[in-house]
Amino acid sequence: MRKLATIRKIDEVKEHTNADRLGIYVVDGWKVIDGKGRYQKGDVVIYCEIDSFLPIREEFEFLRKTSFKKMGEKEGFRLKTIRLRGELSQGLLIPISVLPKDFEWTEMGEDVTALLGIEKYERPIPASLSGIAKGDFPGFIRKTDEERIQNLSYDELIQHSYIVTEKLDGSSWTAYVKDGEIGVCSRNLELLEDEKNSMWRIVRQYGLEDKMISLGRNIALQGELIGGKIQGNPYKMNNFDVRIFKIWDIDNHSYLEMTEMIELSASLGLTTVPILEKGFQLPPTMDKALLFADDISTLYSTNREGVVLYAEGNPDVHFKIISNTFLEKEK
Ligand code: ATP
Ligand code: MN
Repeated sequence: MRKLATIRKIDEVKEHTNADRLGIYVVDGWKVIDGKGRYQKGDVVIYCEIDSFLPIREEFEFLRKTSFKKMGEKEGFRLKTIRLRGELSQGLLIPISVLPKDFEWTEMGEDVTALLGIEKYERPIPASLSGIAKGDFPGFIRKTDEERIQNLSYDELIQHSYIVTEKLDGSSWTAYVKDGEIGVCSRNLELLEDEKNSMWRIVRQYGLEDKMISLGRNIALQGELIGGKIQGNPYKMNNFDVRIFKIWDIDNHSYLEMTEMIELSASLGLTTVPILEKGFQLPPTMDKALLFADDISTLYSTNREGVVLYAEGNPDVHFKIISNTFLEKEK
């Protein structure tokens, strides 16, 4: 579960050069605009990330005009990337006093998402994707997920060199073979075999059952399903297709090296996500790294969602940089 609301410290307070009554508050890699003088450097606050869906509560009513949203039947306030008087603002600062009286926080980064009744805002999933659940996501495969650069230590990230891939805006897809059996999973579930389900259809389209079984090893291919109605089909594809970004070695409990991932994908007749650069060095500041993410997709002339970076020679270091330009345009 993503920690959407956490205990954090105001690292820096900046002037908003274009608005007398506003201030820019820096919390780790995030910048949030709020009233000037509201917080001081060093203050402990609750920081809610973008994508938070806040419950209807008196304290959050000021959000109604800008952020009221329904998620299914549920009503709440959704936080997204906005620009105020020319400056980007992402997320929300809430005074610690909003926490229940009998609750005492103990450490920086402490997760208070559930305590505040905050959920992640998710758009409804098209029926052709959701399929029929066969069960939970298998425990022997790691779920696809990437941390945001803003929540990581830039000083540490900058030590590595990277393979840069384009982050595609689709839906997470996993196909595995284990002891001669094939399975298909969406982001959080294993799916029942079904002709109508687009996740399973990809397996048929590429004849993956036979190809994967004949590999004679237990692996899971992980990629992004794009096309159809997924996310509004930003790449204007005529059909569904998948772009592989990772291969999990089930017996070794580890991801294959990127080079091996690329080779094995090709040998199965599959395409990887766009590989944009190898030997990439991060720019000197996180702000510059965020700007680097802003660009046009290599699949179609539309803003790309961002990039996912994989440290060369260190499979444990990988993260995403979502383009702020893309986020600002998000509906
Ligand atoms: P968040 O964690 O920020 O709430 P989220 O978990 O829904 O968001 P995304 O922002 O979509 O996920 O980021 C992670 C997902 O990105 C992965 O699960 C994967 O499906 C998808 N993805 C697309 N392109 C890539 C890529 N090049 N490398 C890795 N993952 C990718
Ligand atoms: Mn995630």
